[in-house]
Amino acid sequence: MKVSRIIWAVALCFAAAVVQPSSSRAEDEEEGFEVVIGKDAKAFHLPRGNKRVKIVPAFEDYLFMVEDVCSSLSIKGDDCLIYTMNGEVSNALAAVIEGNKVIIYDRRLSGLVGSYEGAMGILAHEVAHHYCRHHFDVSKNNWQAELEADRFAGASFKRMKYPLEAALAMAVVLDERPSTSHPPADLRRKAIEAGWNKPETGKMCRST
Ligand SMILES: [Zn+2]
Repeated sequence: MKVSRIIWAVALCFAAAVVQPSSSRAEDEEEGFEVVIGKDAKAFHLPRGNKRVKIVPAFEDYLFMVEDVCSSLSIKGDDCLIYTMNGEVSNALAAVIEGNKVIIYDRRLSGLVGSYEGAMGILAHEVAHHYCRHHFDVSKNNWQAELEADRFAGASFKRMKYPLEAALAMAVVLDERPSTSHPPADLRRKAIEAGWNKPETGKMCRST
């Protein structure tokens, strides 16, 4: 219940700026709301576009995954004050909306990666976008930001004592082809592996 109240407070913030009113059904207003995902949202793999989507507070499993990722790399306080939501964005997104750090995770991704570790890897990547402040650092190009987030995820898995294969589980949903927003899968696998091999470099995004 506590989480629901916090999420609702965020919902009120959203309402001031980017959220369109949800449907008129009262239960919808309590359980979820619509957001417009802008093109500047940092996504896990697919190109972003403006899209309106209903989001709801994430299942507990996902909240625990984000907590585990944060503690693995000693990320505390505001840096891990992230609202994790589920919504059919066909992707995973890190968005900053009205100053609130939000991850929107499409639960269908879990079916595609096929494992708990795969889902956690995706969330670790999104936590990294927030930790690395990729929304605000215009000095980094898209590829650099994506590879930093992948390295962070790899480092997190090493700290949680997972094998490299578990860190790479998320890579099955990555596109082998490069795009303007995302590097090809082989580069991303290498970044995950680099983070896993040298977890002390997982948070270097803040020093570059
Ligand atoms: Zn990303």
